[in-house]
Amino acid sequence: MNKQELQKIKKKALEEHIPIIMDETLEVIEKYLEENKPKRILEIGTAVGYSAICFTQILDEDGVIDTIERDAQRVKEARENIKKAEVEDKINIYEGDAVEILPTLDNKYDVVFIDAAKGKYPFFLKEALRMINKNGIIFADNILYKGYVMSDYNKHKQRTAVRNLREYIKEVSENPNLETEILEVGDGLAISKII
Ligand code: SAH
Ligand code: MG
Repeated sequence: MNKQELQKIKKKALEEHIPIIMDETLEVIEKYLEENKPKRILEIGTAVGYSAICFTQILDEDGVIDTIERDAQRVKEARENIKKAEVEDKINIYEGDAVEILPTLDNKYDVVFIDAAKGKYPFFLKEALRMINKNGIIFADNILYKGYVMSDYNKHKQRTAVRNLREYIKEVSENPNLETEILEVGDGLAISKII
């Protein structure tokens, strides 16, 4: 991994207002994964590849990351970034809508990182649960959506997202096979361990 390139990629993404993972969120995830080096990670929402490139550092030596992105321009930039960071052998990009791609996948993952359309989180959870390994862990970023999820009144524009994020929280909390924590780091992070 080329760390200097990683810093450049981060700077450019921030300048272009691409919603890459926040430092404190990344730190929490890295802490969780430090001990048990995952072999296979599934990421939903690649953007320009920043988080996937970061995750290569916590990956097992022969591990791989599958990541899904629907925006063609971002996929193109992610491919360039992954090359610059010298991690092409570790990251696999699926181009297209995760709602269509996920049902076609049949791999087992140690970690799933959900970081895409908020209105689709319950669907992403269902697919994550189908493919997650025993002792695996599912992270969902932006779960508190700028505080809207905790607020009584939300603008029309945010309502569908908020309803689905609440549904996600309810499902992970009630699922007896999961042990879930919701952290207020960054934009909110849900951490669900398979027990
Ligand atoms: N994980 C990235 C940031 C992802 S931002 C990082 O931290 O570096 C969210 C991305 O998800 C956007 O690029 C958006 O285009 C993509 N996205 C949103 N909904 C999607 C869907 N249904 N299928 C695939 N990609 C989606
Ligand atoms: Mg995010």
